[in-house]
Amino acid sequence: MADYDAIVVGAGHNGLTAGAVLAKKGLKVLIVEKTNWNGGMAASKELFKGFKHSVGAWALLVFRREMIELLELDKYGLELITPESSYCVFGDPADPPFIGYSDTAKMAEHVMEKHGVDAIQGLAQLGEYIAPYKAILDAELDKAVPRPIEQIIAETPDAETRERLIKICYSASAMDILRMFLPDPEKHRCIQGSLMASAIDGTHMGPYTPGSALSLAYHYTAGDAYDFKIPKGGIGALSDAIEQAFLGHGGEVRYKTQVKSFIIEDGPNGKEAKGIELKNGEKITAKVVLSSLDAQSSFLRLAGEEHLPYDFASSVKEIKYTNGYIQLHMTLDKLPTFTGHMEIANENKIGWLLACIPSADHLQKNWEQYQRNEVPDKPVSYCYFPSVMDPSLAPEGKYTCTIFSHYFPADPPPGKHNEYKDLMAERAIDAIVDIAPDFRDCIVDKVVLTQEYFKKTFGVTAGDFASGLMHPDQMWDKRPVAGWGGGYRTPIENLVMCGAACHPGPGVTCRPGYNAAQEVLRTWED
Ligand SMILES: Cc1cc2nc3c(=O)[nH]c(=O)nc-3n(C[C@H](O)[C@H](O)[C@H](O)COP(=O)(O)OP(=O)(O)OC[C@H]3O[C@@H](n4cnc5c(N)ncnc54)[C@H](O)[C@@H]3O)c2cc1C
Repeated sequence: MADYDAIVVGAGHNGLTAGAVLAKKGLKVLIVEKTNWNGGMAASKELFKGFKHSVGAWALLVFRREMIELLELDKYGLELITPESSYCVFGDPADPPFIGYSDTAKMAEHVMEKHGVDAIQGLAQLGEYIAPYKAILDAELDKAVPRPIEQIIAETPDAETRERLIKICYSASAMDILRMFLPDPEKHRCIQGSLMASAIDGTHMGPYTPGSALSLAYHYTAGDAYDFKIPKGGIGALSDAIEQAFLGHGGEVRYKTQVKSFIIEDGPNGKEAKGIELKNGEKITAKVVLSSLDAQSSFLRLAGEEHLPYDFASSVKEIKYTNGYIQLHMTLDKLPTFTGHMEIANENKIGWLLACIPSADHLQKNWEQYQRNEVPDKPVSYCYFPSVMDPSLAPEGKYTCTIFSHYFPADPPPGKHNEYKDLMAERAIDAIVDIAPDFRDCIVDKVVLTQEYFKKTFGVTAGDFASGLMHPDQMWDKRPVAGWGGGYRTPIENLVMCGAACHPGPGVTCRPGYNAAQEVLRTWED
């Protein structure tokens, strides 16, 4: 008799989601987590006494509100803040900033007034162009095994839509798509930069790299709309609520409990997962084991290649994870004063999230430097002041601030990691000083994290925040492992994947955890 019905490895938001769904159905569930906190790459942490920072994810960008109902999260204390504007993208003083108002009428008014009628038409046409992709994503979102994208495209009756889907899902660069609707490289530079920064998010690509259109489409269609939702109390408040739901349904969590390996034995149908072995040697058995870890961590490190079919193991080894970035967390004793063309950012509801993305070509230059393993001269950076939206994150009169920048060298020369990370942090700060000369004087404490931190802390391969890059050959039925087509199930019976490495993809979505649990329940027999 097994100790548990189900063991879930990892108390990130997806592991917790899978656990909560299974426990609610009456299964005896244990979640084991290597760190001593929940949330994984989406956690609220007290990095500095009295302040709370969202470490890793910071906003629900691709999260659908239906998850709140499905998991009853409002009952367990989740409160979401919808900011008045999601971003304010700036660049050259000659270019008007691009502000993402949550209210669509206000957004339209802003684009019309500051960027012109061709910008508003271009953005609307881009939305229409991507709409067929959104329709198929919607149809496949809750599938345990998404249909192969090739099949979906082949079965699309209309030739023009097929061509569009081929471009979006395979061949086009994000710039190829964007230039159809905003063709002038000199006009709308902040809008172009903003869209392109989303396109390269979670990829090892630049804005002109064929295949980058897919991440652009994902970012604009995977969530409800492109509005940011912020959990009150920081991003970890989502995992806190899911954990409360899980515990409320009788689940059990063990922190500081690192899994060394899965217990795998020969069964009548081939290899079977029987439980886990912890780092301290303890063995715990279960009828089903769910892993919220990425594919290389799950299959090569915890399962072991010897238990896998040769082709499957080869595909796992080929998964791409190269993803360099920094996240710089700070405390401030006052807010900076924005000057010149960015005076508008002194309105806190706009200035809470600023993004230095002067143009698509600027991003391209960052990408070229990154490929040469250099620190970008002026890194594309998102700088946000979460406690402006949510004062519970900082003591009265003080503030939290975080900068996230893409393209930190993925493979710095030996011994250069710390020097490079400090250099990149200083350059990212400089980009804010350009518009707020007193910014440096506001900073009290700071810590700089890179992909190395996320790799060491959460065991995610190469520190890739996408848990497997969002490249065309790593999405849909090819996620988590190309050529397998098994969805959340794996070649090892009773070993099920349930994290962001799976369909539909990365981000704080709860979807992989939810879908994986449904798949377990589909065939569950007491
Ligand atoms: C800097 C950064 C910024 C991001 N920004 C956003 C954003 O704004 N919005 C957004 O939607 N997404 C964002 N993301 C991506 C998002 O955070 C992830 O896609 C998501 O959190 C993945 O959740 P998960 O539960 O699938 O996996 P994880 O969060 O990786 O959880 C896996 C858990 O397993 C644990 N674990 C690992 N190995 C073991 C082991 N051997 N034994 C036991 N436990 C183990 C880990 O400690 C971890 O808690 C960001 C990520 C990063 C790093």
